[in-house]
Amino acid sequence: MDSICALAKDLNLKIMEDAAHALPTRYNDKLIGTIGDVTCFSFYANKTMTTGEGGMFCTDDDEIAKRVKVMRLHGINRDVWDRFSTGASWEYDVVAPGFKYNMPDINAALGIHQLKKIELFREKRERIAKIYYEELGEIPGLILPRLYCDMKDHSWYIFVVLIDRDKTKSGIGRNEFIDEMTKRNIGTSVHYKPLHRMTYYREKYGLKPEMFPNAEWVFERCVSLPMFSAMTENQLEYVIASVKKILL
Ligand SMILES: *Cc1c(COP(=O)(O)O)cnc(C)c1O
Repeated sequence: MDSICALAKDLNLKIMEDAAHALPTRYNDKLIGTIGDVTCFSFYANKTMTTGEGGMFCTDDDEIAKRVKVMRLHGINRDVWDRFSTGASWEYDVVAPGFKYNMPDINAALGIHQLKKIELFREKRERIAKIYYEELGEIPGLILPRLYCDMKDHSWYIFVVLIDRDKTKSGIGRNEFIDEMTKRNIGTSVHYKPLHRMTYYREKYGLKPEMFPNAEWVFERCVSLPMFSAMTENQLEYVIASVKKILL
């Protein structure tokens, strides 16, 4: 972000950050959401904090904030609370061709209380990550995520490991690993299937797997281990014991 911010300053550009699953994380001791001109977070069901659907937009620019508030709800210049409160005037105006991108108030009511717990949720996930590193570090063919920052500055949104068939003891690959975990009633997931393998992008741009050897290498091997703040001690132990049983 330091070099991106410097470049943006030189060229007089604005920075909009997709920080969808980076709540709450830090960069150089600054909370994500306070660095770029605008930062977007997602509160979708699988994120570090959820309101079911919706998200959060952060900026310290009053002009941008005003524009976002207008554009998120039909380009109307006053929101519904403002208009329908007792004593308020019924008058309103459409000042721009806006969207219907508002977060429902019911979801927001959940979010206000979730926000108070985000650091607690993060600490719980960090602890799971720590135990994964301690317990799964020495398994041939299992590559754990490389750490680029302090563990406390990481969101631990998902825990993606790579299964390298050429190096596992049993010659097991990612797909068989997932099957074995499923048999033991453990949910895993693949984050993510690359865009060039999605029908629309493949057809529209004529993309072929051999054009993206690095993405292919990772895609064939990646699998996400369970990682959620409500994970119990027993569940964590069971996952670790199962991974060892399958790969050792
Ligand atoms: C989840 C996610 C999104 C999408 O967020 P929505 O709230 O579903 O629109 C975008 N970018 C990243 C990096 C994400 O993880």
